[in-house]
Amino acid sequence: MSNRIKMKTPLVEMDGDEMTRVLWTLIKEKLIVPFVNLKTEYYDLSLENRDATDDQVTIDSAMAAKRLGVAVKCATITSNAARKVEYNLKHLHPSPNATIRAILDGTVFRKPIIIACIKPTISSWKFPIVIGRHAYGDIYKNAEMKIDAPGKVELVYTSDDGQEKRVLVADMKGPGIVQGVHNIDESIRNFARACFVYALNEKIDVWFGAKDTISKTYDGRFKELFQQVYESEFKEKCEKAGIKYFYTLIDDAVARMIKSEGGFLWACKNYDGDVMSDMIASASGSLAMMTSVLVSPDGVYEYEAAHGTVQQHYYRWKKGEKTSTNPAALIFTWTGALRKRAEIDNLPDLKDFAERLEKATLKTIGNGEMTGDLVKLSVPSPKKSLNSWEFIDAIAGRMY
Ligand code: NAP
Ligand code: MG
Repeated sequence: MSNRIKMKTPLVEMDGDEMTRVLWTLIKEKLIVPFVNLKTEYYDLSLENRDATDDQVTIDSAMAAKRLGVAVKCATITSNAARKVEYNLKHLHPSPNATIRAILDGTVFRKPIIIACIKPTISSWKFPIVIGRHAYGDIYKNAEMKIDAPGKVELVYTSDDGQEKRVLVADMKGPGIVQGVHNIDESIRNFARACFVYALNEKIDVWFGAKDTISKTYDGRFKELFQQVYESEFKEKCEKAGIKYFYTLIDDAVARMIKSEGGFLWACKNYDGDVMSDMIASASGSLAMMTSVLVSPDGVYEYEAAHGTVQQHYYRWKKGEKTSTNPAALIFTWTGALRKRAEIDNLPDLKDFAERLEKATLKTIGNGEMTGDLVKLSVPSPKKSLNSWEFIDAIAGRMY
């Protein structure tokens, strides 16, 4: 234990709920603490503790992430009516991810963990395609109306000093529907910044697609701001790092993406990112093999898994079953956060460790030792699936 790898700055550790909380402790105990003198600033984001602190703990953890720069988060329950009864809550709390996102002002990047025995549905994909999803505005903050009879629909803007601008949406000849959406320049700029910061970190190209041929003002503004941010803040750095940025129409981006080898960041407007990240996740393998990181424009990193707390497995575990829940994405949240910490604090040993743990995890799966969710997808199919404890032990066995 005495020659364990030393850290300088602590990680912000955000513990969570249910099966992922069980695995969280197990991963630390078996895969991290034996090798690293782990320093974390610990926040218990379990639903019980969020309720007991009136969600202050979530806010505190996000502020700590702002201060320390790198956080690692377990999956957490978003409370709803059923959870209120189950956990005897004082009241419903907002989604911790939404609270943290609002404080850090971030963009979410989702990247599949690629492994040889799990073939992507698209045979040309050799490298992961990362989705960078703008998480503000558009249809997610829309105003819509059902129209029952003929009439005029207009967009009206009234400035704070009373000036008015109007544009005709439609002269409705009969019943129909209408929708108004918006976005904010600074949010779009921050989205572009987060994408370039991420791409520089991962050393991958950036694609951005929108529909500016049809939506000349709205999507046109996205295209224009992305280009401005690139030219004024990132062009030089990207060129130095050999990273390309290119804009194309969203339909062209989709067509190229399918025929590509992968290995790039696909920056998506909110709706495109919502739809395309599910497509990429399922075409690449499974949700349990999808990593997710929230990156703020000023370079704060919060690593998490893309999946939830795996509630049904938790109930079975509570009854005594050793479930076959896949901890891969959770392990990668730790390696992602430790690697980032190592880069910032210049700790090559810690960086090596993170890489070694990722390799050991992939090697274990590659050797046919895997959890049930992957057994169904693997070619060749292994004879049996391991439970989470056996799987983590098999990884640990490759670390010594
Ligand atoms: P989930 O936890 O992602 O699980 C849905 C199903 O996906 C599971 O029942 C399981 O399928 C499969 N699955 C997901 N992760 C897996 C893993 N690591 N290994 C093996 N199988 C896995 O979603 P949910 O059940 O809808 O949500 C449960 C709770 O998580 C909710 O309270 C929700 O609020 C919360 N949530 C949190 C986050 C977050 O913190 N980032 C994200 C999403 C949801 P089988 O049952 O078929 O094995
Ligand atoms: Mg979706």
